[in-house]
Amino acid sequence: MLNDHPVLLGEHLRSITLWPAESAAGEHVIDVVADSEWALQFPPARIEAYKRLVIEERAVFGGVGHYRKYHWLLTLSDNLGSFGVEHHECADDRVAENTFVDDNAARRSSLLLPHEFFHSWNGKARRPAGLVNGGYEKPMKDDLLWVYEGLTNYYGELLAARAGLITAQEWFEEIAADAMSVSGPGRTWRPLQDTADSATFLYTAGGGWGGWRRGVDFYNEGTLIWLEADVTIRKATNGRKTLDDFCALFHGQGDNGTVWMKPYDVGEVYRTLNMVAPYDWQAFFEKRLRSKSAEVPLGGVENGGFKLVYSDRANIFTDPWALDSGLNAYGSLGMHVAADGTVDDAWPTRPAYAAGIANGMKIVAVNGRKFSVDELKRALVASKDSTKPLEFIVDNAGYFKVVAVDYHGGLRYPHLELASGATDVLTSIAAPRTR
Ligand SMILES: [Zn+2]
Repeated sequence: MLNDHPVLLGEHLRSITLWPAESAAGEHVIDVVADSEWALQFPPARIEAYKRLVIEERAVFGGVGHYRKYHWLLTLSDNLGSFGVEHHECADDRVAENTFVDDNAARRSSLLLPHEFFHSWNGKARRPAGLVNGGYEKPMKDDLLWVYEGLTNYYGELLAARAGLITAQEWFEEIAADAMSVSGPGRTWRPLQDTADSATFLYTAGGGWGGWRRGVDFYNEGTLIWLEADVTIRKATNGRKTLDDFCALFHGQGDNGTVWMKPYDVGEVYRTLNMVAPYDWQAFFEKRLRSKSAEVPLGGVENGGFKLVYSDRANIFTDPWALDSGLNAYGSLGMHVAADGTVDDAWPTRPAYAAGIANGMKIVAVNGRKFSVDELKRALVASKDSTKPLEFIVDNAGYFKVVAVDYHGGLRYPHLELASGATDVLTSIAAPRTR
């Protein structure tokens, strides 16, 4: 219990009581410390959305929570990192100083508070047996992180939409960004299950090559697979049952307001899904966990009536929570470029890498002009109407070379688009349940 209750301290502090102890939901508070008083000026509409979030999130579990009271310990600072750590009755959430006053930043990071709150059920109260090992000095077996984090990632994004932190359309954008993020070539050799098994070093692996090595893809690919499970349940039961019914059965056991922990194995996951909608869930998940297909699993998107498309329209969810002024060009050249021209990550087999641009090289010039992100964007736009390759001058550890990239696709960002004649299931998934 001591390990599970961190302390948040700060000069600029605000406690936002979403629901008081005597309310039906029980005590839910966002305690915020920030680098400035300015950063604490949450728009009232955002506070209202977080109030709805509590109600929407508890509804997924049949209104049963496994905490006496719940506090988000939220740090708004450009000096203390950007992450979330879940605890049973609280969460340690850290984002950039401007996050909750800047509307765009608030939307990009809207999954964070719902995600960590979800872990009170999925991760803390219900925990994979391999993570219950009787001591912090003993190794954890993390093969079920595709449930622990995958299901949580799906609901963290979805509940932001149900609460009104983002719109349903923005939730679709987030799913599209998730799909692009896991579309790197590494998926042809490393199955998703192995990203969970290897999580202990994939969390901390840095230095590029993520597209080939893969990262902790069980988060974003987890969203796609659990979306497909949700759509499958809805179709199999003519909309009478949803993945929420699985969560209510699996996580919503016991008495509201009591703290406990009950381990599970994968068999219980499949059996409980089967109680909601009879289906070969073991085969469903094993196929997706063991796949070495280059194709991203889009069954949930497509059976939900949509298709993944790329266009030159930007998608705010392809940028990080705290903007880094770089360019996410994974969808076009297959690389990410930092603001100073350094190539953070170039995906093997994609146009930039295939032409000779690799991680750590620095782009000095684009089509004969000094590099800037804007210059690179303009060159990408112009590539559509040009027959000549893009010409880069790159600095490779002090050696300069000219690289021609024969690319003519323009800017390319991912989006979901309603397929013609299809029934839209995704909008009904994103609809609030309690208003
Ligand atoms: Zn998580």
